[in-house]
Amino acid sequence: MYKRYHHSNLEQAEATLGHILDIIEDGVWDWNALTGEVIRSPGWYRMLDYDIEALKENVFTWEEIIHPDDYPGVMAHFEAYTQGQIENYRIQYRCKKKDGSYLWIEDSAKIVARTPSGKVARMIGSHTNIHQQKLAQQELEKQNRLLAEDNLSLEGLVEQRTQELSELNQTLYQKIENVQYNATHDVLTGVYNRRCFEERLQKEISRAKRYCHPLCIILIDIDDFKVFNDRYGHKQGDLILQKVAKLLEEHLRETDTVARWGGEEFVIILPETDKLVAIEKAESLRQLIANLRFNKNSKITCSFGVTAFMEGDCADSIFSRTDKALYRAKKLSRNNVQVE
Ligand code: GH3
Ligand code: MG
Ligand code: MG
Repeated sequence: MYKRYHHSNLEQAEATLGHILDIIEDGVWDWNALTGEVIRSPGWYRMLDYDIEALKENVFTWEEIIHPDDYPGVMAHFEAYTQGQIENYRIQYRCKKKDGSYLWIEDSAKIVARTPSGKVARMIGSHTNIHQQKLAQQELEKQNRLLAEDNLSLEGLVEQRTQELSELNQTLYQKIENVQYNATHDVLTGVYNRRCFEERLQKEISRAKRYCHPLCIILIDIDDFKVFNDRYGHKQGDLILQKVAKLLEEHLRETDTVARWGGEEFVIILPETDKLVAIEKAESLRQLIANLRFNKNSKITCSFGVTAFMEGDCADSIFSRTDKALYRAKKLSRNNVQVE
């Protein structure tokens, strides 16, 4: 509770009020609904830069300075209060200053007298300057909005970058796969290359030693391939190499390794295979190749050298034995299988 002033007479009380109204920053208004008159304090005029008491002392003065965009809301609020639909009259809106610019104010008021029939007879209110506060609030809202938009665009950017990165990764993965494929495969025929063969042979020799498993190698050389090339052309020769490679792959197990050893030479690693089985395999491949027919009914044959892993073998020793067997097959009129 605030302390009430005690004045010995009305004159004194009015003088005090006059002083107060003269000093305070807020604009105070006092509307007599019966006469339509509105008395405004000096602070009210000062706030909007008007000369004191320069405007007509009626409600139209008020209506005319309300920002057109705020006007409907203010009127609705005013009516809701005066008709008893809401408890309090308190609303923020813009008022036109003398120079035409607008000032944000907060208007709060109270009905202080009613007619016997309950209509508003008198209402007193005050206008408070909230301009700086409102601008700061608007700036904050704007910054928040920009921040939200920024965040959104940042999210979009991150998503886009993630997508790009994933595409890049995919391309990179593909490239790595290509490099790996090229490093281990022969470009022309698609079977493994010599380097890969050597690695696998090493591995299989270690396994054969470790588990005492049998292991065989078959070396294949196309017979008189130079003659074939000379007769049908190099391109046709390439097709032969591809066909032979395909045939070998199709007739071997997943665990076997087919590789192109050199120009028209292929080599096969047969893990866990006995010598006799390897010889049979070589013989069957020899026949399959000899039965192949190419353009213009041409055909080719191959010579085969077979060997089995023996105790104490290394890659060189096992390979040179196979080569020896092949050499013998060549000597023995080609198109046959020799074992060493
Ligand atoms: P042999 O029965 O003694 O093996 O006789 P050959 O003619 O097959 O053997 P030689 O070593 O004299 O010749 C190998 C031929 O293989 C020569 C070469 O033109 C051919 N050749 C090697 N690599 C390729 C290739 O990638 N494509 C083609 N078309 N021919 C090749
Ligand atoms: Mg050769
Ligand atoms: Mg040859």
